[in-house]
Amino acid sequence: MKPERIKVLIIGSGPAGYTAAIYTSRANLGPVLYEGIEPGGQLTTTTEVENFPGYPEGVDGNQLMADLRKQAERFGTEIRTGTITTADLSSRPFHIVVDGTKEIEAESIIIATGATAKYLGLPSETKYRGQGVSACATCDGFFYRKKDVAVVGGGDTACEEATYLASLCRKVYMIVRKPYLRASKAMQERVFNTPNIEVLFEHNTAEVLGDETGVTGALLRKNDGTETKIDIAGFFLAIGHHPNTELFADQLELDAEGYIKVEAGTSKTNIEGVFAAGDVKDPHYRQAITAAGSGCVAALDCERFLLR
Ligand code: NDP
Repeated sequence: MKPERIKVLIIGSGPAGYTAAIYTSRANLGPVLYEGIEPGGQLTTTTEVENFPGYPEGVDGNQLMADLRKQAERFGTEIRTGTITTADLSSRPFHIVVDGTKEIEAESIIIATGATAKYLGLPSETKYRGQGVSACATCDGFFYRKKDVAVVGGGDTACEEATYLASLCRKVYMIVRKPYLRASKAMQERVFNTPNIEVLFEHNTAEVLGDETGVTGALLRKNDGTETKIDIAGFFLAIGHHPNTELFADQLELDAEGYIKVEAGTSKTNIEGVFAAGDVKDPHYRQAITAAGSGCVAALDCERFLLR
């Protein structure tokens, strides 16, 4: 069968993908969006979103994504279930395979495949995800005002999240597996100068503890084998993210952590006609609103490319 010809292919269904879809469909470019493995993206794993502008009372993460999807569909975006399994970007039109079978030729591509937060892999951590276990302090910290919480990790993100949480919470434990922090000196100083942060060096989490209300504590194991229990209401992971770029690894320019490199101030990758938006190219901000903004940038860059 002949491959299907598509003008704009959008890969990913988070805020970046849907915003790119809204803009390209309003520009009559007939985008086709493939949802990927996690339809709706990372926001579907949080509960309330209180920092997306336009929702003074906050909005449920799933509702926000459903609204964005509806808005993209309203202007004619074709949203399909499916995962891209091969992407050959060596010549235009780009040759794409969906779910190992369906072939597509795309004139342009907007990659919005996002990033995935790393978790420890404990069953108890999975059980309380969204009920006290979170991988985003900026998103969820507010729910733990005046309570005790823990942050796992010793990098810049962990330090940044711990100091942010310390401004809201009564006490913040940092659970660090090494005898030192990996974070920059400046970030370390901020942590050590914040009186309500306690750094627990050489500690690992053995279990997240909880009941029907959600997280109530954590069982920690020190490297010498001793165990301690801490009482906490929130358990925040800050042990890094994986950008979802495996598909493009040998074709697009990636940074050392695997994020797609784009030309400064644009969404342009090193391959003409391929654009990147959202967390897949953003190791720093990682917010729904910044992802949505970069989806808009990608759509406008793509439109200009196709007009040329
Ligand atoms: P990093 O990879 O720098 O740090 C991850 C941390 O998590 C490390 O302390 C690591 O421990 C720990 N960790 C990893 N896996 C586990 C595990 N299974 N159990 C317990 N601990 C674990 O990730 P970040 O997200 O902190 O930073 C990513 C990049 O972004 C870095 O380059 C960072 O500098 C940058 N960044 C910069 C910021 C800024 O400049 N303001 C803010 C945030 C990030 P270990 O040290 O033992 O490996």
